[in-house]
Amino acid sequence: MTAPALQIRGCGTSWSILADGVALPTRYHGHHLATAALRGVQQRLAPPVQRQCLCCATPFPSTGKGNRLCPTCRKDA
Ligand SMILES: [Zn+2]
Repeated sequence: MTAPALQIRGCGTSWSILADGVALPTRYHGHHLATAALRGVQQRLAPPVQRQCLCCATPFPSTGKGNRLCPTCRKDA
C-alpha cells in the first residue's frame, strides 16, 4: 500500500487538497493554508511503517516518526 498522490487545486479564496484526483471535503481560503494543511494530510494518509520498538525490539506498525514504542510498552510507559 502506498500513500495517495496529493495535489493542491483552486483559485482565489477557494483551495482544496486532492488525494489521487479526488478533492477532500475541507476547503481553504488561500493557497498557503492549503499548503500548510497538505503536510498534516500527508502524515494522516501515510500507511503505517513497520518499526522496531525501542524498548522490547518487537516490530509493530508505527504511525509516525514520534511513534517508536509498541502498544504494549506504550501502555506501561
Ligand atoms: Zn515494546
